[in-house]
Amino acid sequence: MRPVYDVLRALYTFACPAHEHTSIPLSSFREVERLPGAAHPAVFRVRFACACGDEHDGLVAHDDLDWAPLGAAEDRMFHNLMTARRQRVGEEIGDLASRQIAAGSWPLVLFCYPEGRPRPAFPSLFRLLAPKADRGHVGVAVTCSSCGRLSVNLVSADHVDVPFHHDAEVGVVEHVFPDDALQTLEEFRAELWSTEFDSRRLSLA
Ligand SMILES: [Zn+2]
Ligand SMILES: [Zn+2]
Repeated sequence: MRPVYDVLRALYTFACPAHEHTSIPLSSFREVERLPGAAHPAVFRVRFACACGDEHDGLVAHDDLDWAPLGAAEDRMFHNLMTARRQRVGEEIGDLASRQIAAGSWPLVLFCYPEGRPRPAFPSLFRLLAPKADRGHVGVAVTCSSCGRLSVNLVSADHVDVPFHHDAEVGVVEHVFPDDALQTLEEFRAELWSTEFDSRRLSLA
């Protein structure tokens, strides 16, 4: 079976009714929802903007969503020129990722407005995403990994697509959203267009 995440290209693969399957970056996600029931692993419904021009839903297990980008599930082999041996791609990337995390750098960081500080983020904590075309950026409504509250950030596509690549500054909506705010993509798009973003530095230090 085709792996959900291609760690070398940083793309998730989903089924597309028009093209059998499609590979998209995280910034093409539009909605992420944890499905009730399944816990080991948890399963998420992802609505995404497909290359065919439509939006479709796909199902992803928690591991594939959050950990595959760090090489955890990748078992393709490559020839490591440094060690002159064949190795699993995931082994090398996973090793690199764990060293970076140990050094205090997270694959993905977003700004928690209620806490007033950057926090590590994971795709499974994304709620809604939408492009803001005027700046080539993407708006992200995300649940904080630390306090569980909702923030809206405006970041570059690379910031969400490329693990460990961080914008120096991100846009933040200066508003504490109630838990049930921004239920739909329409509400979120309206919020993105109607509000001002304030910039915040992302350094975790
Ligand atoms: Zn499609
Ligand atoms: Zn927080």
